Amino acid sequence: MGVGVLKKYGEFLPLTEDTPIFSLGEGDTPLVKSNRLGKELGCKELYFKLEGCNPTGSFKDRGMVVAIAKAVEEGAVGIMCASTGNTSASAAAYSAYLDLQAFVLIPKGEVALGKLAQAMAYGARIIMVDGNFDAALTLVREFTRNHPITLVNSVNPHRIEGQKTAAFEVADVLGDAPDYLFIPVGNAGNITAYWKGFVEYHQLERTRTLPRMMGFQAAGAAPIVHGHPIANPQTIASAIRIGNPASWQQALKARDDSGGTIDKVSDDEILEAYRLLASREGLFGEPASAASVAGLIKQVRQGLNLSDQRVVCIITGSGLKDPDLAVSSVTAQTIEVEPTMEAVEAAALATA
Ligand SMILES: *Cc1c(COP(=O)(O)O)cnc(C)c1O
Repeated sequence: MGVGVLKKYGEFLPLTEDTPIFSLGEGDTPLVKSNRLGKELGCKELYFKLEGCNPTGSFKDRGMVVAIAKAVEEGAVGIMCASTGNTSASAAAYSAYLDLQAFVLIPKGEVALGKLAQAMAYGARIIMVDGNFDAALTLVREFTRNHPITLVNSVNPHRIEGQKTAAFEVADVLGDAPDYLFIPVGNAGNITAYWKGFVEYHQLERTRTLPRMMGFQAAGAAPIVHGHPIANPQTIASAIRIGNPASWQQALKARDDSGGTIDKVSDDEILEAYRLLASREGLFGEPASAASVAGLIKQVRQGLNLSDQRVVCIITGSGLKDPDLAVSSVTAQTIEVEPTMEAVEAAALATA
């Protein structure tokens, strides 16, 4: 049983004796060894970090528990975020637990159904903005400057602090940092947080090495790759549909200091990885999560040799978040039959 991020990694977090300590069970997520894809891609070792196993189904809970604990410590009565879905689900859950008012601004029509359902169930006040994520975040920044409400997007440094605990977990389980870390990049808070975590552990000599940080944006939402903001970012991977990342500079620093890369993957590549992850490994991540695996496949196809390397892919959120896409994009066969043994046998044993 996990004790939660605040208790387990408190010594690395900006806590004081006035910070409330609580948990919805975030952190301590599985690092699963690949059984098939790693071999096919020629990796010495490949692991998937299953961040969909967090209480609201994404890594956002790690940073949210810290951001909300600090907000309570500072006397906030409410919190606000802009969200492509997972931040709002997480903010709403922790707010419900602590009896805070949660305000979430979401881009109208762009949030996956499961995520919207969560924010509704947890009782957030949901404000649909007729604009994209970047517009919503601009509004949240201004609103929280003028009202006693705490901003809990990843521009809140406590979010990054909490999220860095995922890097600690990877290192604790492997006994060292991996050689390569593949991760999707949207607002770029998570790549920033992992790098911060690995650097801190390295400075404390808990690890001998540092990983190369391999970040992947969706091709239609790849401002960092192109070197300029994207006014109308487009991709099926809604969690990384972001045109002007808040942690842009920190992501470049993570890339450059680690000797890694930030590259883009097309929606077709994301969907291919999304299907392979489920059908070859039994792991169902949301489309944005599959960008890390798509990036790994792309790099190997371009000649990256991993035969001597230990590789980790971050699976940032659960595939159940976006059931519409799952059903529309996977060409699984379903067969309807009469409720008789003859019909079931015929269907089960028919050669495909
Ligand atoms: C938020 C999110 C991302 C992107 O993380 P950033 O910190 O914005 O770069 C990727 N995948 C999922 C599932 C997310 O919820």
